[in-house]
Amino acid sequence: MSLHQYIVLPVILLFFHLGACSPGEEESPHESDPHMEHIKMNQHKHDFKPLTPGEIEVFSQKTDSSEIEKVTRTEDEWRGMLTRSEYRILRNEGTELPYRNEYNSETREGIYYCRGCHHPLFTSEAKYDSRTGWPSYWEPLAKISTDYREDNSWFMTRTEVICARCDSHIGHVFDDGPEPTGLRYCMNSAAMIFVPDETQDS
Ligand SMILES: [Zn+2]
Repeated sequence: MSLHQYIVLPVILLFFHLGACSPGEEESPHESDPHMEHIKMNQHKHDFKPLTPGEIEVFSQKTDSSEIEKVTRTEDEWRGMLTRSEYRILRNEGTELPYRNEYNSETREGIYYCRGCHHPLFTSEAKYDSRTGWPSYWEPLAKISTDYREDNSWFMTRTEVICARCDSHIGHVFDDGPEPTGLRYCMNSAAMIFVPDETQDS
């Protein structure tokens, strides 16, 4: 490799990673049964009852993470309930492709829950268009929605955002977001389930 290539390659890599949740990785070919993947993808939509607006209001005020009833599962259990790409993101800190994901352009009002355990994560009120290609929020729904880990992969130090209930990876947080927090929670659509307000019980 020439000296020129030594310089250019890291610059190109850095360009891809700046402002991104993480490198966009192509889905690897897999041997999963497409029928089973389809069932898993839709199963969760019928598997839980979203909180009512009143319950969301109460939840949004919570600050004591000791109130959280933690969810732990074996790797087999995770694989059994998540599609391959969901598993890669939630359990292996993967990142979906920008723009080609379900909620980047979602503008309806509603609540985003964790795909892994249905913990309430974000509200549409804090969602904004960051032009990164990933759904972005300036704050989580409640202090007890999310937790954080240091991520030193890809020659950078970033702050990884995990679900405070099941510890699944959901994205990263950066300090280049809008007011009032100045934060940008850069999330993976496949790590979440969006429930629009019109489908929630009142
Ligand atoms: Zn979770």
